[in-house]
Amino acid sequence: MSSSRPRRDFPNAEHDHSHCAAHALGQADLICEARGVRLTEIRRRVLEVIWDSHVPIGAYDILAKLNAGGGRSAPMAVYRALDFLIENGLVHRIDSRNAFFGCSHPEEPHRAQFLICNVCSAVAELDSEALHETVRRTARTKGFRVENVVIEASGRCPNCARKSAP
Ligand SMILES: [Zn+2]
Ligand SMILES: [Zn+2]
Ligand SMILES: [Zn+2]
Repeated sequence: MSSSRPRRDFPNAEHDHSHCAAHALGQADLICEARGVRLTEIRRRVLEVIWDSHVPIGAYDILAKLNAGGGRSAPMAVYRALDFLIENGLVHRIDSRNAFFGCSHPEEPHRAQFLICNVCSAVAELDSEALHETVRRTARTKGFRVENVVIEASGRCPNCARKSAP
């Protein structure tokens, strides 16, 4: 792999993560400019903290990191920044962990399903429209109209599966 483009599947253990973070921040600038919305200082800093790694991070840990350098961001400001980032597809919320992680392909609108590693907590996306459609269709046979679908699977990522192999 010579490409520096971040992948939506689990990253190699040895990859240069600074590329992922730089790419994500660059994408965010382009997307916000194209949509005529502002990536304000706090929004950008929250996105940076989220892109510190591929491991989802909770709102209070984001706040702690923001304020580690003597900053004085308020929890509400972080929540509002998160709302903005989620609305614009730059960040996904992992419901089962109550945490947030950066989307590596926010330029393509997608419905994501998440694979979460139980060992290192890394997250990857499946992005299968068919999976969502299956839930929707099956629910309809019960007369149920689906408004929101959350699909999160936990297990072992390729890096951790390899390490634990005999
Ligand atoms: Zn990375
Ligand atoms: Zn995504
Ligand atoms: Zn793992």
